[in-house]
Amino acid sequence: MPKKRLRWDEPTLAGVRLRCLRRVARHTCPQCGVGALFDRWAHLRERCNHCGLIYRREDGAELGSMYLSATISQLFAAAVFVLLWVFTDLGAWGGFAVGAPIVLAFCYGFLPLSMALWTAVEYLTDVASGEWWARPR
Ligand SMILES: [Zn+2]
Repeated sequence: MPKKRLRWDEPTLAGVRLRCLRRVARHTCPQCGVGALFDRWAHLRERCNHCGLIYRREDGAELGSMYLSATISQLFAAAVFVLLWVFTDLGAWGGFAVGAPIVLAFCYGFLPLSMALWTAVEYLTDVASGEWWARPR
């Protein structure tokens, strides 16, 4: 099988990944970087208002975002409670009283980033598998 030659202006998959992650970190479309991902707090738009990329393609598409958010939040909670236990003498209930609001604030703040990252994962999967609607710009 002949090796595919890259054109000088053809984006590499590594370059597309990096650009896509930068875009979703700014809450913009992973494909064009112009359209907004959200129309309000943690509410993903149906599609990009600039290039038309569909963000929510099917029911349950955000399930991965939920797992990502739960995993990162649990790791953060474990780190907070270990730090409170090691570096303070608050006791169990004092540590809970201080740590629980910190963890809840983190969960609330991390949710949109988790949704944006999952949108990027789905988009990059489509780019890598050569879907016709995924055209990196
Ligand atoms: Zn777009």
